[in-house]
Amino acid sequence: MSEKRDYYEVLGVSKDADAKEIKKAYRKLAMKYHPDKNPGDKAAEEKFKEINEAYEVLSDEEKRSTYDRFGHDGLNGQAGFGGGQGFGGFGGSGGFGGFEDIFGDIFGSGFGGFGGSGGSSRRRGPRRGADIRQSVTIKFEEAAFGKKIKVKINRSEECDECHGSGAKPGTTKKTCPTCHGSGTVQSVQRTPFGNIASQRTCSTCNGEGEINESPCNKCHGKGSVRKTKTIEVDIPAGIDDGQMIKLSGQGEVGEKGGPRGDLYIVVNVQKHEIFTREGYDVYIEMPIRFTQAALGDKLEVPTLDGKVSYNLPEGTQTGTVFRLREKGIPKLRSNSRGDQYVKVIIDTPKKLNDEQKELLRKFDESCGNKVHEKQRTWKSKIDNFFKGIKK
Ligand SMILES: [Zn+2]
Ligand SMILES: [Zn+2]
Repeated sequence: MSEKRDYYEVLGVSKDADAKEIKKAYRKLAMKYHPDKNPGDKAAEEKFKEINEAYEVLSDEEKRSTYDRFGHDGLNGQAGFGGGQGFGGFGGSGGFGGFEDIFGDIFGSGFGGFGGSGGSSRRRGPRRGADIRQSVTIKFEEAAFGKKIKVKINRSEECDECHGSGAKPGTTKKTCPTCHGSGTVQSVQRTPFGNIASQRTCSTCNGEGEINESPCNKCHGKGSVRKTKTIEVDIPAGIDDGQMIKLSGQGEVGEKGGPRGDLYIVVNVQKHEIFTREGYDVYIEMPIRFTQAALGDKLEVPTLDGKVSYNLPEGTQTGTVFRLREKGIPKLRSNSRGDQYVKVIIDTPKKLNDEQKELLRKFDESCGNKVHEKQRTWKSKIDNFFKGIKK
C-alpha cells in the first residue's frame, strides 16, 4: 500500500474535532463515495475505504488517542481494515466497530454488509486438515544411531460408512433452498441513494451450500471419525533432543476432499548414565587409580560402539582430556561423526589398611622432593612470596 494519508485530513476535520463533527464529516463523505453511487469507479472505491478506515480510528476514543500519539504505526494490526482487500472483509459482524451503527443511522437498520466487489463468504470448499504434534521419548543410543519406532497417534480419519460425505449411505445432501448452493445470500435494500446490495453467509446452511437431511449414523454428519493409529517413524541417526521430524500428509484428515495436515514428531532424548552430548561430540569422565596415572596403563574406554583401548601415558595428571576421533554421534545426513572426549579423574584411595598406609609412607619417603614436579615449582613460588612479605 502507498503512504497513508493523515486520518484527519481524509475526513477533512481539525485535530481537535469532537465526535459529532467527525461523524458528520464521515457521513457526508461516505454518501458521496459509496460504491453503489459510483458503480465501477475504482478511485471512489479506494476513497471510500480510506474514509471508513479513518472513521473507524477517529470514532474510537482509544484508537484515536493511540493514533494521535503514535500515528499510523501505533495502529498496526489494530485497525479493522486489513488493507486493500476489497469490501469482502466486512460481511456482517466483523471487527468493524461502529460501522453498522452509522449505516444503520443513514440507511435504516438491517444493513448487513457490502455486496459490491468480492463478497466475503463463498460456499465452503475443500479444506486442509490440521497439523498434529506428537512427542516421543527415545534412548540416547537410539538418537545416536537412529531407529524405526512405532508411534500411536489419535487423529481423524475419513468415515468409512459415508466415505467422508457425512450423509447416510444411499442418501445425498440437498442443495440449500435458501441460497441455492452458493452459501451466501444477497439482499437488496432500497434507500434514498439507490439500491444497496448486501451479502452474508447463508444461515440456513451455515455457508455450506447444502443441507444434510439424513446424517451418517457413524460420524453424525461430520464425515470423519477419531481413531488411534500406529505409525512407523524412522528416527534418523544423529537426531538431538527437541528436534522434530515432519511426516507430510499424516495429520488430521481434510474436509471435503482437502489434503491431510502434517504430523510433527517431537523427539525427546533421555539422558545417559555415562555419556553426555554436545552437538555431535560425546563426553565422558573416567575415574582412574593414581597408580595408573603415575605408571601409565592400557585403559578400556567405553564408547557408543563398544570398548576401545587407549594407552594412558605414565605421569598423566587428573583432569586430562583425550580425544577419540570419530567415536561421537553420527552426523545427520552425513557419513562423518563427532568425536568422543574422555576426561580422566584420579580416584584417590579411601579406607586404606595399615599395611597399605605403611607402604605409601615408604613410597613417599623414597620420593623425596624430586618426583612431584608441580609441587616443587609451586613450593618455590610460595617461598618467594613469603620472603617478599618479610622484607
Ligand atoms: Zn459417516
Ligand atoms: Zn444456504
